Amino acid sequence: MSGLTIENLSVNVAGKEILSGVNLSVKAGEVHAVMGPNGAGKSTLSNAVMGRAGYEVTGGRVTLDGVDLLTMDTYQRAQAGLFYAMQAPTEVPGVSMHDMITAALQSAGSSASALGDTLVREASAIGFDAALLERSLNVDLSGGEKKRSETLQMSVLGPKIALVDELDSGLDVDGLRTVARRVEQLTNDGLGVLLITHFPRVLHELQADRVHVLAQGRIVKTGGPELAFELEQTGYGNYVEESPKQSSAGGFDDLFNM
Ligand code: ADP
Ligand code: MG
Repeated sequence: MSGLTIENLSVNVAGKEILSGVNLSVKAGEVHAVMGPNGAGKSTLSNAVMGRAGYEVTGGRVTLDGVDLLTMDTYQRAQAGLFYAMQAPTEVPGVSMHDMITAALQSAGSSASALGDTLVREASAIGFDAALLERSLNVDLSGGEKKRSETLQMSVLGPKIALVDELDSGLDVDGLRTVARRVEQLTNDGLGVLLITHFPRVLHELQADRVHVLAQGRIVKTGGPELAFELEQTGYGNYVEESPKQSSAGGFDDLFNM
């Protein structure tokens, strides 16, 4: 099956079950939002799908275009067409964005000869300072610059599926709009996006085809874009069990205090 397919995925972190049977599939060109309160396991989902150490898959299947990802190392998943824009992007002292993307393209058998021009063009399109291209990757960047950095990598590497975790953290309204427009263009060219967010506001900028609520370790509700705006009004209280703080939540302001 084409696209990313997650079937009955269960994941333990530090010996505790965080995900217990997640089902989700994202086809080319689609945007699927996974929403849920802090600590629901949204980042665990993307970490496990990308194969990050410490996220132990205890059951289920994850495939990209029908090919099993779970037996692959992380770099092989990337070469297969998976990209992960992390919630808190990793800083890599001594390695520039230019170096990193050159290595990624070459190890995948692609040419990096025109990369310098491509990077400058893409940087300009999303308001990323081109001077940062030669500095250590993500080191000493602001939260917003890191999100632009991740978006730029996504644009240049051309993945099939991107896991995008909390795109709006650190970006101001204009920055979020710029970055969201670029991601939207990529989806028009066939990129499938799993957009992880606990705030609906990002969905004002990047329209989701489907919205899923992650709670109690699984997808408890799926709907269209209107579900995100319902959550904006109600918070997650209707979907979360046994948490007085959340069940009494009147709206999103409460989620800041969790
Ligand atoms: P979300 O992204 O939905 O806010 P996370 O997936 O980051 O939630 O976290 C889900 C739960 O797993 C939380 O209780 C968190 O503390 C725990 N967790 C996540 N990653 C780790 C880790 N590397 N080590 C220990 N616990 C973790
Ligand atoms: Mg998270």
